[in-house]
Amino acid sequence: MDLDEVVTELEKVVGERYISNRPEEQFLYHYDFVTAEPEGKCDIAIIPGSSEEVQEIVKIANRYKIPVVPWVSGINFGSIATPRKGGIVVDLRRLNRVLEVNEDDMYAVVEGGITWADLRGYLNKYHPDFRPGVTWSPPGTGVIPSCLCYGMFDLGMLGGTGAEFINGLEVVLGSGELIRVGSCSLSNYWYGRQPLPDLAGLFIGWEGTTGIVTKASIKIWPKLPFRTDFLISGKEMRIGVPVMLKLAKAGLGICDICILNVGWAQSLQGFDEKYAILDPIKQNIPDFVGLITTQAYTEKQHKAQCEAIQEICKEGNLEKSTGGQTPIQFWGCWNFSRGGGGQWIGSYCSTRDIIKYYEISRKICLKYNKPHQFYSRILFGGHYCVARTNINFNKNDPEEIKTARKLLKEIHDAVQQLDGVVMYKPPTWAIRTYKDKMIPTTRQLIEKIKQLLDPNQILNPGQGIGDE
Ligand SMILES: Cc1cc2nc3c(=O)[nH]c(=O)nc-3n(C[C@H](O)[C@H](O)[C@H](O)COP(=O)(O)OP(=O)(O)OC[C@H]3O[C@@H](n4cnc5c(N)ncnc54)[C@H](O)[C@@H]3O)c2cc1C
Repeated sequence: MDLDEVVTELEKVVGERYISNRPEEQFLYHYDFVTAEPEGKCDIAIIPGSSEEVQEIVKIANRYKIPVVPWVSGINFGSIATPRKGGIVVDLRRLNRVLEVNEDDMYAVVEGGITWADLRGYLNKYHPDFRPGVTWSPPGTGVIPSCLCYGMFDLGMLGGTGAEFINGLEVVLGSGELIRVGSCSLSNYWYGRQPLPDLAGLFIGWEGTTGIVTKASIKIWPKLPFRTDFLISGKEMRIGVPVMLKLAKAGLGICDICILNVGWAQSLQGFDEKYAILDPIKQNIPDFVGLITTQAYTEKQHKAQCEAIQEICKEGNLEKSTGGQTPIQFWGCWNFSRGGGGQWIGSYCSTRDIIKYYEISRKICLKYNKPHQFYSRILFGGHYCVARTNINFNKNDPEEIKTARKLLKEIHDAVQQLDGVVMYKPPTWAIRTYKDKMIPTTRQLIEKIKQLLDPNQILNPGQGIGDE
């Protein structure tokens, strides 16, 4: 294939300014700057300005059978936006507008490349009584990829995963057709996916391999006047976790519950491995930290909720450390400076297995002499949860990268002994495990759907569960 010919064709769609095959731009898109995954290769970077332009790009890519990778900030931790087979990286960040806010049905219709900073900034300015969920990811990361990839926010107890915040989508399929799913497929309202066949699932959990979302309706929530964030500490996970699960079922205006260990919590002001406590339990340092957020409409209601939360914690032998408003961006546990990298084994699992997940991953981290950073978030009123271990490493040190990969793989394989532990944003090596485990007929259905939506297999090839 003559790449210059492809560039000439694409240039007609977006204009010279928004396309490049120069090495300096290729470099920006060829890898995930935080992970230890092998690097990829970007041949052409392009920045479309409308859904129609995205559609034209995909049509051209189909003619040349060249890969197309949707991209917003490329720091998802699984390296799932890394172009594995070269081709065109479609940087969606010009599609960053809020198109509509419906305060009655509480949603915002946004473009496919909008970042959290864009969305929150817009709502603060024009709809100050409403807010989106807030992730712990940097503000410049994408809203749509977070929702499509089962990310999670500080409203997870109310709304579930990011996927459940999606009301409807406009998507350019791998075939180049543009479709809409949800109420927006037959009306001007984007209020939800009910009661039509729920086609949003064709794009959720597929890592951009079935379509490029150009518009989406995302649920927003009212800002309630009273809010308290409790930081609660306890001696060990096996004491703290049951209390958090009890709270999850108690109502009490709780919109977020996070379970952290001291390895995570100690580094909230910025992680420095030199000073990290390696084995808190051995040093008799309390290892459980719970973060509980409650909110209310009236002061009286709020006071009652806070008292009940404290009562339940006291009964469970947990101590309240702080009650107030904590910083919402909790990513100090990573150190990205001077070669700093990070990756995780992040999984959905049953709430029954949080402690077991923690214990297995703690043991393996200790074996490798690496600080264990553990996090679990209880979602959707306690119906399920995320559990994960973060590992920091120096990207400039090949030996450290090798160790990090080995350690993460070991945790992944070891937690597979727990039933139903499945990684979100899975790196390519984890996908194989799930394909092998899955009921064959389900796997075949996934492959058929992928074939239908992306007949030339051009969308983000080499990634996702539908890849051959
Ligand atoms: C320090 C740190 C903390 C984080 N904490 C959180 C957290 O608390 N919660 C959370 O949810 N995430 C978190 N993340 C992960 C990640 O940054 C977010 O999920 C983020 O929103 C993903 O955006 P991105 O711009 O990095 O996506 P990208 O890496 O650009 O894309 C991710 C995937 O989605 C696909 N994709 C991108 N855009 C589209 C589109 N429009 N249509 C179809 N497919 C598309 C890509 O091809 C890729 O497969 C964190 C990341 C970091 C670095």
